[in-house]
Amino acid sequence: MGCIFLLIKSFNIGKKSIIIIIISIIFVVLISSIIVFYSFANSSKNIQTENQEETNEAKKVETTDSIEKIEEAETQKNFIKWVDFNVTSEALNLTAKMDIDSHNNNEEIVYNWIELLAYLSCKNGGNFKNFKSKDLQPLIQELKNGQTMEDLTQNMKFYDYYYESYTAVLGGFIGNYSVEVAKDEDGTKTFEDRYGLKAFLPIAKNYSFSHYDDFGNSRSYGFKRTHLGNDLMGSIGTPIVAVESGVVENLGWNQYGGWRIGIRSFDTKRYYYYAHLRKNHPYSEGMEEGMTVKAGDVIGYLGMTGYSTKENVNNINVPHLHFGMQLIFDESQVDSPNEIWIDVYQIIEFLKKNRSEVYMANKETKDYERKYDFMENSLLE
Ligand SMILES: [Zn+2]
Repeated sequence: MGCIFLLIKSFNIGKKSIIIIIISIIFVVLISSIIVFYSFANSSKNIQTENQEETNEAKKVETTDSIEKIEEAETQKNFIKWVDFNVTSEALNLTAKMDIDSHNNNEEIVYNWIELLAYLSCKNGGNFKNFKSKDLQPLIQELKNGQTMEDLTQNMKFYDYYYESYTAVLGGFIGNYSVEVAKDEDGTKTFEDRYGLKAFLPIAKNYSFSHYDDFGNSRSYGFKRTHLGNDLMGSIGTPIVAVESGVVENLGWNQYGGWRIGIRSFDTKRYYYYAHLRKNHPYSEGMEEGMTVKAGDVIGYLGMTGYSTKENVNNINVPHLHFGMQLIFDESQVDSPNEIWIDVYQIIEFLKKNRSEVYMANKETKDYERKYDFMENSLLE
């Protein structure tokens, strides 16, 4: 400051002029800095916009790419997305009997129950409420006259859909199997080869249970949802058997199902879900993920676990087995919002005729085992 005043003094400039000069300098500096700031800000903005556009462009490419991929996948994956299973136990009983008898009696016309059911569905639109055994008479007559199933169904628009759907549901139920009929004194097993029903009721023989068609009822634990199975009410500890042979896919605690077990059929189309198993001792000895189980094997025990994030908690009011069947036409349907669970009430009714007899095989662990061993070809592959 002293210097400035010296300058002022030496040039003999008036104080007023000095103030004007200083104000002018400040003004010029301020204006120029504002200009510099704005031009800089603008250029960086431009860079930013450019970057944004590039990202948008990349995103656009990505979106078009994924749309194409989805479309491609959709056209490639022409799999069934939904099945309503409305076949009654009466229709299952009748067609199963025709299939089994015609095989065992070497009849001229050998029936396939799934073909018969698919044919009936084309006639009744998949609604079996008014099903009568005479509904099959015209078909039987035409087959007896020498027509083939292929001829008779070729103009039925939905025959293939019903056939594929019902194969997914019932494909492992009827076929060849061997069952143990006697055990010699030295322990050698004697098996008898048979053709017939090889799927079992999930409740072991001589144990009582009750159920009603509760599929689709509302459930409120956790979030509002519908009931995707059939509850079989029974006593705690009732041995639960595998309906069909397959591979244990899931085992352990699940918030909703409690101690549960999930078994996938060998053809991978069916996922059997058994839930709310017994507290402390839910599974039969040696059960683990990845192992193979046979139809009719004891897999666990009825209980009331579930509805808790904490393990081994009894939060279900009435002891029961929750039994469910999920159909899988494509692996993308597993653990997705597109899962297909069917109403198994009529299947349970139908399976009442085939129950697995069990006995307490281990008095220490109180574990049960099946009384009569069972074999089928799919177990050997
Ligand atoms: Zn249930």
